[in-house]
Amino acid sequence: MAPAGRRLHLMPGEPTDSRAVQRVVLAGGGHAHLAVLDDWARAPLRGAEAWLVTADPFTAYSGMIPGWMAGHYGAGQHLIDLRPLAKRAGVRLVIDTVDGLDANRRELTLSSGGVMAFDLLSLAVGGEVDISPLAGLGARLLPVRPMNDFVARWPVVLEDAARRQGFSLVIVGGGAAGIELALAAEFALRRISADPKVSIVTAEDGFLSGHSQATIARVRAELARRRIDIFFGEATGSEDAVLLSTGMAIHADYVIAATGSTAPRWLKGSGLALDQQGFIEVGGDLRSISHDNIFAAGDIVTRTDRHVARSGVHAVRAGPVLAANLRAKLNGQMLHQYIPRRRTLYLLATGDRRAILSWGKFAMVGGLLWRLKDWIDRRFVRHHTIAAETGEVN
Ligand SMILES: Cc1cc2nc3c(=O)[nH]c(=O)nc-3n(C[C@H](O)[C@H](O)[C@H](O)COP(=O)(O)OP(=O)(O)OC[C@H]3O[C@@H](n4cnc5c(N)ncnc54)[C@H](O)[C@@H]3O)c2cc1C
Repeated sequence: MAPAGRRLHLMPGEPTDSRAVQRVVLAGGGHAHLAVLDDWARAPLRGAEAWLVTADPFTAYSGMIPGWMAGHYGAGQHLIDLRPLAKRAGVRLVIDTVDGLDANRRELTLSSGGVMAFDLLSLAVGGEVDISPLAGLGARLLPVRPMNDFVARWPVVLEDAARRQGFSLVIVGGGAAGIELALAAEFALRRISADPKVSIVTAEDGFLSGHSQATIARVRAELARRRIDIFFGEATGSEDAVLLSTGMAIHADYVIAATGSTAPRWLKGSGLALDQQGFIEVGGDLRSISHDNIFAAGDIVTRTDRHVARSGVHAVRAGPVLAANLRAKLNGQMLHQYIPRRRTLYLLATGDRRAILSWGKFAMVGGLLWRLKDWIDRRFVRHHTIAAETGEVN
């Protein structure tokens, strides 16, 4: 790694200096970086200064969003405050949005106009939602990301629905998130609106892709029981309807876009090796295959050694490996591999305090599964909240 002092390190308001220490920058408050902050709190980095630049002081724990929509969690219960976590880890926090990366010059550009140089970079900024085909819906469209914006707008949808008869909500996206959002929305709307209608629009190959036939059958039965229709086709948006490639039009008072993660556009000119969809190509050690001082985890990566689904589960589990590898890289030690388990357990909330378990070819549904999911999710958020408040690291 080149000595940091040879290059300019600029931050808004910070004088240009030449430093003897390495600058490690975490970009994004994604799931994997929570484990990195934990690790640095346990054992502070030596010979390095650490920064976290992230778009929002709070990071949303997505697993609890459907439960929050359904009214099972209070305001903010799904949020993790990054400020005390950064402080405890000895990390300087910058609330700003990364909108450019020059991997060869080792610089991030920020939407405030600042430039942040780094010696070692770790990216966990999550994916974006491509809303361009649905843009014709204007203010009726709610992209699920940025999640904090979605959370701010959902109560407005409920208020509007409460005033209308035959309210129609369309969810575009038939992955696990789209299904959970549809079921949570149906549960919430049924309590406040007369005769609400919830529909899902999805490409056929996108309907619960990666899940077993048993899970798909359970989900279909649940959707049918709740009178949630599924329409297959490519969706575009008009002023007040979702138009399907089949020629059908579905009237929509609001549309939630949950079409899965797309790669941030600013990665394109970064010089990093990207796959065809623009995701960062990393090996099992979570390091860019083109730049050995850049690591990445979560929804923005594609593994070149094996298929790993984009999900919160993997973003969380990659965290401890990422933490170990950032430290190993600084100390010139061997890197570890993130090897996912052969099967991943998913619990899909049905909105009515039940959940559908999906594990390999096995699927089941029930109230106890919701209690398990609720316990896992609350425990995750509480860990990062209690730890931050008390300074203790479990
Ligand atoms: C409704 C819903 C429910 C879901 N439920 C589950 C579930 O139960 N189980 C599961 O495994 N997966 C679930 N997922 C998928 C899961 O949310 C994602 O896979 C996961 O969030 C990816 O984590 P990440 O760390 O990559 O990014 P994120 O969780 O999206 O975190 C990104 C972070 O980076 C910050 N950021 C974003 N852009 C920038 C930028 N340009 N500059 C600086 N900071 C930035 C954000 O503020 C945020 O702190 C769900 C998704 C949705 C939408």
